Amino acid sequence: MVDARSGSDASVESSVTVSARAGSVAAGKAEPLPKAQNIDLEDPVPAPDQPPVAIGEPLLPQTETPASVVPPASVAADPGVASGSGQPVAEPQAPEGADGAALQVTQDAAVPPLVILGKEVESGTSARLSWVPAQSFEGIFSATPVMIVHGSRPGPVLCLTAAVHGDELNGIETVRRVLYGLDASRLSGTVIGVPIVNLQGFHRSSRYLADRRDLNRFFPGDPNGSLASRIAHSFFEEVVRHCSALVDLHTGSYHRTNMPQVRADLHHPEVLELSRGFGATVMLHSDGAVGTLRRAATEAGVPAVTLEAGGSMLLDEKSVNHSFQAIQSLLHHLEMVSKFSLWGQPEPVFYKSSWQRAPVGGVIFSSVKLGDTVTRGELLGTITNPITNVRTELFSNYTGRILGMALNQFVQPGFAAYHIGIQAPPEDLLAESAGSAGANEPLPVDEESDSSSSSSYEMPEEDPVEAPLED
Ligand SMILES: [Zn+2]
Repeated sequence: MVDARSGSDASVESSVTVSARAGSVAAGKAEPLPKAQNIDLEDPVPAPDQPPVAIGEPLLPQTETPASVVPPASVAADPGVASGSGQPVAEPQAPEGADGAALQVTQDAAVPPLVILGKEVESGTSARLSWVPAQSFEGIFSATPVMIVHGSRPGPVLCLTAAVHGDELNGIETVRRVLYGLDASRLSGTVIGVPIVNLQGFHRSSRYLADRRDLNRFFPGDPNGSLASRIAHSFFEEVVRHCSALVDLHTGSYHRTNMPQVRADLHHPEVLELSRGFGATVMLHSDGAVGTLRRAATEAGVPAVTLEAGGSMLLDEKSVNHSFQAIQSLLHHLEMVSKFSLWGQPEPVFYKSSWQRAPVGGVIFSSVKLGDTVTRGELLGTITNPITNVRTELFSNYTGRILGMALNQFVQPGFAAYHIGIQAPPEDLLAESAGSAGANEPLPVDEESDSSSSSSYEMPEEDPVEAPLED
């Protein structure tokens, strides 16, 4: 069964890869790439007279179709592949938007078109393309929306990715706000936004892929590996390699919530520089687990950080607002936009951190809130055994700040309940991490560190049929 599946996957993959690659490589060849239609991202997606390209639609307002609106572009470079999906997509060669040309904005000839996903995106324009993972069960493809704003002036290519874990919603909304707030004619460089990388998980409100693997353990991927590895490879090659910097948006996991914070491997000078751009955002040094998007991207020469905010399965506006402002600040820091007045230029605050775990199981109620400053010996919360009625108080081992914490819930013994940050200048953090690990435990189960350092009780309720960390 495994053989059969991988066999069919391989054949499908080759056709898709060839067609997609042909797009990337053919820039200098005779056959021109289809031009991506310039769209105004502010315009609503028209009610389709054909089935929608992808599930991007729930994010976008559905209204009556103004005559001037251009339908979303699609990346089905190979019509044969598209028809095989059972979900027809728009023909890229036959742009329907009669007024598409009218939307053309002044463009600087000095900025060449962005060639990506089998399309050419002209400078000074915006486009809504799709990334089609090369691998999917039974050849059913889910096209993942990729929004692009290609500025009229030269500059970096900043990529924003969200929902690599399919149940982490704040980043989806953050990416939408950032992308829809950009003006291509005034942007220096390019912003590529992928609001939902893990569509499989998103559809199921799950952190994981359909095979219960954590996609954020498989970057940069392997075209001949597991399903997760193939999806990771496709995304990495088709999208990530176009980026000159990347911000991967995440939230806490398993009923934990995080104060907005950037996680970055500060050993990399480019990453350290990038991390300074997020305004008054907490900064946490961590290498990042092997296979995470940010680590793989950084190792491939694309400096990357994770932006954490809030918890999974929740859309909280406070977290979204902070993330939005942090990325606006970054756009200014990277000199991609000129004016930014939401925040002054507040400095980030750097932290090292430790987790405090529940010593016993039971119902946890916290006495502290996210962002609170606590002193050593201060009461963090209580855990009450619902059967024996024994109540245990949990006191802080550190003086620091609550960067992440469990929501009130039933916890098992050992559950990572409070993530406490201890302020330090970045130089000290690097010096410490270069030496022994000290008393600091490695970051457990969070956005990205998942349960590699934790016991099985921190796995999701849906018992994985196989270890999600093993390929
Ligand atoms: Zn995550």
